[in-house]
Amino acid sequence: MTSRDREKNVPEGSTAARQPLTGDVDAVVVGAGFGGLYMLHRLRELGLSVRGFEAADGVGGTWWWNRYPGARCDLPSLYYAYTWSEDLSREWRWSERYAAQPEILAYADHVADRFDLRGLIAFGARVLAAIFDEATALWTLETDRGDRVRARWCVMATGCLSAPRAPQFPGEETFRGPRLHTGLWPHEAVDFAGLRVGVIGTGSSGIQAIPRIAEQARRVTVFQRTPNFSLPAHNGPLGDAEIADYWARRPKYLKMLKAGLPGVAAHAEGAPVPPVEEQRRVYEEMWAIGGPVLVASFPNLLTDEAVNAAASDFVREKIAQVVEDPRIAARLLPHDHPIGTKRICVDTDYYQTFNRPNVELADIRAAPIEAITPDGLRTTEREYALDAIVYATGFDAVSGALLAMDIRGAGGVTLREAWADGPRAYLGLAVAGFPNLFVLAGPGSPSVLSNMMVSLEEHVDWVTGCIADMRAGGYTRIAAEPSAQAAWVAHVKDLADRSLFPRANSWYVGANIPGKPRVFTAYIGGGYRQTCEAVAAGGYEGFALA
Ligand code: NAP
Repeated sequence: MTSRDREKNVPEGSTAARQPLTGDVDAVVVGAGFGGLYMLHRLRELGLSVRGFEAADGVGGTWWWNRYPGARCDLPSLYYAYTWSEDLSREWRWSERYAAQPEILAYADHVADRFDLRGLIAFGARVLAAIFDEATALWTLETDRGDRVRARWCVMATGCLSAPRAPQFPGEETFRGPRLHTGLWPHEAVDFAGLRVGVIGTGSSGIQAIPRIAEQARRVTVFQRTPNFSLPAHNGPLGDAEIADYWARRPKYLKMLKAGLPGVAAHAEGAPVPPVEEQRRVYEEMWAIGGPVLVASFPNLLTDEAVNAAASDFVREKIAQVVEDPRIAARLLPHDHPIGTKRICVDTDYYQTFNRPNVELADIRAAPIEAITPDGLRTTEREYALDAIVYATGFDAVSGALLAMDIRGAGGVTLREAWADGPRAYLGLAVAGFPNLFVLAGPGSPSVLSNMMVSLEEHVDWVTGCIADMRAGGYTRIAAEPSAQAAWVAHVKDLADRSLFPRANSWYVGANIPGKPRVFTAYIGGGYRQTCEAVAAGGYEGFALA
């Protein structure tokens, strides 16, 4: 890095940096969640001048925004963590098996400080536009605080679940109490004591938040349209023995990651269907372990209808055993999708919460919400008096955050135009027509169906290698070929079609957003990492270099 480059990396805390940023850098990274932080680290290490833009006032991405009570990871924390620095892994100690949001955010803060990344990031700077210039092969990024920065390389680390969405019911603005979205939760503590709270939505966010809100509130009404499958976390303090076990397994785990994960589709091929008694024995075992492992009990659980049906039945039975009132239990049983084809939820006392006298379940499939009123909410059946409403209504997933920006590639084509029929990217990394732009955990990569930390690391490493190769080879432009992208998108779809995933109206296919094209957005094949590495090793097959 030259001294001029260093000057460009003005710490954001300095007065100079609070002025809108202008000028040129080698690379910009949009988003300072776990993908963005590691990307900034790697690019700086490569000797590039880099600038990060982050809409929030701090690092952490999803963990900065999702501060609702009960928010915690749904993969074991020892695995929901970076692997790229052994020192970091050794010095950070998780207090619980499934860490809560404040601890995960503290981890992101620790990473930012330990690797001195904050100075590279402009906080409170939402990127509004990213425009590619054909003549120079440079991107110009503009933010809502007036920054205007040009860069050769543009990395979108904007997250898959970062564009919160709430349905607009008639009368929203008339409600007298607070309306809160789980994905945009206030920083100051919200006191529900003595309040009648309505929670709309029973996905992962609602299922985590409802038990915690019910502990405080006078009354909680859960407005459920579609019941979901949720598995108990069996969370608890993380003991020394579990940590020692992790370290004993770690070399094998890292080797497995390097070897490329098998993927749902490839893994399932030719797998035998175990006898039903064997299936139930394994489900009992997995239920006792807790967390999402139950849906990975058998390789063909997400491809074979019969295997899945047995798992779905098993979990429905467990739910019915927990919920004391059989009528409420019946309403909580999911029947509209095979288990695991919507993101499996992981909870602490979700179903038990419906045994509390201060919790009621409103079936808004049978009696939909008609309007929000000044004093609550009205369904087609009755009025509910509420003091606060919590929207746990999810996100415009995968493409939402990207399409919120005005992204224009070669020939001025907008990303919105390019994705008119749904999000698509070559290898889930690069979009044809958008040279020098990379999307971390983009559509068509394992992303949301993998351990996101692992997937982000893989993408960051690949992008770093790619930029290093471009620079070494004297290239200033790399763009995915439309034909390679089309073939990859077809491959992703073909694999998905061989699974049970398309059966669910999930956000994986954009079904939660009215009018969104139905495209399955995750890669479920095996050896994804190898595929990407082979593309790079083969001189970036499927990409045009200039
Ligand atoms: P979600 O899974 O999309 O759930 C949204 C909920 O809101 C659904 O129950 C949905 O009902 C309901 N809803 C949406 N629009 C509605 C409307 N107009 N009327 C009534 N109900 C409506 O969203 P989420 O719970 O925020 O979770 C999204 C994803 O974020 C998860 O799948 C997970 O990947 C991630 N997440 C992870 C964690 C974690 O790791 N711990 C925690 C939270 C979230 P329908 O099903 O009928 O549409």
